Amino acid sequence: MDLRVEILERIQRYEAHQHHRSGALDKDLEEQALEIQSDDVVDLLGNEARAELTQIDKAISRIDAHLGEYCEVCGEVIDIHRLQALPYATRCNECAIP
Ligand SMILES: [Zn+2]
Repeated sequence: MDLRVEILERIQRYEAHQHHRSGALDKDLEEQALEIQSDDVVDLLGNEARAELTQIDKAISRIDAHLGEYCEVCGEVIDIHRLQALPYATRCNECAIP
């Protein structure tokens, strides 16, 4: 699935960035502070990408089980427009976490 490959590539990019930062040694404090900030953002994005991948895996297994179009919470059919916009949605509009 293309979406899954895209997410995996994103995670790999974030992890490559994190390996890169361990090479940074003799910088002044201001530069270190900036570096820490951007690394925090990368950590955050990495976690988001991982959460997204988990969600995609869940959606794929539900699709395999022919449950992909049903809400995992209330069991109602998920709106087709929602699935077109968010192919790995596993909840209907009403049950989705805002
Ligand atoms: Zn629902």
